[in-house]
Amino acid sequence: MRDRAGPAAEAVTVRRPEAADFDAVVVGAGPAGSAAALELARAGHSVALVERGPFPGSKNVYGGVVYGRILDELIPDWYERMPVQRWITRRQTMLLSGDRSLTVDFRSQNWGRAPYNGATTYRAEFDSWLAGHARAAGAVLVPSTVATALLRTADGQVVGVRTDRPDGDLTARVVIACDGVNSFLGKQAGLHPDEQAAHTTLGVKETLALPRETIEERFGVTGTDGVDIEILGGTSGVPGGGFLYTNRDTVSVGLVLGLPGLAKAGLRPEEILAELKQHPSVRPLVRGAEVVEYSAHLIPEGGYRSMPRLGGNGLLLAGDSAAMCLAAGIWLEGVNFALGSGMYAGRAAANGLRSGGPAVLGEYRRLLEKSFVLADHKKLRDAPGLVLSERVQHRYPGLVCDLAEGMFTVDNPRPKPGLRRLLRRAARHNGVRMRELARDALTGLRSFG
Ligand SMILES: Cc1cc2nc3c(=O)[nH]c(=O)nc-3n(C[C@H](O)[C@H](O)[C@H](O)COP(=O)(O)OP(=O)(O)OC[C@H]3O[C@@H](n4cnc5c(N)ncnc54)[C@H](O)[C@@H]3O)c2cc1C
Repeated sequence: MRDRAGPAAEAVTVRRPEAADFDAVVVGAGPAGSAAALELARAGHSVALVERGPFPGSKNVYGGVVYGRILDELIPDWYERMPVQRWITRRQTMLLSGDRSLTVDFRSQNWGRAPYNGATTYRAEFDSWLAGHARAAGAVLVPSTVATALLRTADGQVVGVRTDRPDGDLTARVVIACDGVNSFLGKQAGLHPDEQAAHTTLGVKETLALPRETIEERFGVTGTDGVDIEILGGTSGVPGGGFLYTNRDTVSVGLVLGLPGLAKAGLRPEEILAELKQHPSVRPLVRGAEVVEYSAHLIPEGGYRSMPRLGGNGLLLAGDSAAMCLAAGIWLEGVNFALGSGMYAGRAAANGLRSGGPAVLGEYRRLLEKSFVLADHKKLRDAPGLVLSERVQHRYPGLVCDLAEGMFTVDNPRPKPGLRRLLRRAARHNGVRMRELARDALTGLRSFG
């Protein structure tokens, strides 16, 4: 009998098992893992879904919005059954500069009816719901169990995982690691060669309780409608951004902070969050709320250029373990990318198992490339660098707020200034060179266009 232990530094070498315990072992019952397990179980394969938490979602942290359309392929009537807090019908992008702000506010009731666009949902409820579908399809959920190491044959083929349960080796013909941003299993397989703090941000979040009517009054919504506010600026000079989402009777407010910038600033994330909550544009929305939860988690934000190899030798990586989270300023989408990549990993593995071969990395990559998962990441590959640049973080919000202030200030008896003069003045005041601005606009257009 072994002691219960955390993840090991190295894979364990074993003999090739004569008969594997399962066709597939999926590690991690987050969105990527449950999607992979569901796809495999539906294809008739035996699957173990290993989760370190006591139940799926118990360990998981995020801001709050799931964009569910990829679920059309997995659970066709998902929007009738998913545990939803509110459907997002109003989306704002808020630029903060000092105590000023400029907000682009979009709302559409199209997003408040099927097939919907995005919804706030609590991870403990969402992850449990999704894992329930995998179980109903035949996957065996193994909770409160840490996969501590890969099992590998002498020739490098992955044949299962060691767990922290007594006699807890689980052998399988294919292993899918959906073990999140720290992916110890991906590291053991040598798939993350140049892990860099520059590609990782720290997400921190407070869940704040407010009466339902107060939320609806302050955010201008009724019934099941909800609001998603993405914030640029308000991070006390640390590269990153913020968010504010409405649930039924709580709101989630949080920050995403670049690790090198955070270390350099010598600030604590909770101090920066407290500061954001004091901003004149944020304070009225969260005033008087009671903090009912504080959580923090890393996010792989480097995008396409920081992705590891996606697997090999009987192992596939999906979701955050493969750095699939899309964090590009006005977008913070990880769950849909985890669902998509998990589903395609499960599909590629199921096809490989059916044809008697090992997990097919080539097919997995092809499925990802044909879908939004790698297409969006490729298109937006320059976005993380641009969004976290000093210009986008500090100088452009200042420029935009100066422009707005110049346009809307009535300074009679002087006549209104022309836009060109205002732009030149705002650029000078914020240290923005017009050539730089044009270059960034072009990069932005190429990325987002
Ligand atoms: C503050 C913050 C805000 C965010 N906001 C949003 C948002 O609003 N919308 C959005 O779409 N995305 C958001 N994201 C990103 C999103 O949370 C992730 O991209 C997504 O959860 C990735 O899913 P996953 O299944 O790959 O990994 P995870 O959700 O991290 O799941 C990994 C699972 O593996 C388990 N596990 C890990 N190691 C082991 C092991 N060795 N053995 C057994 N089990 C293990 C964990 O317990 C966990 O259940 C946010 C992230 C943060 C931190």
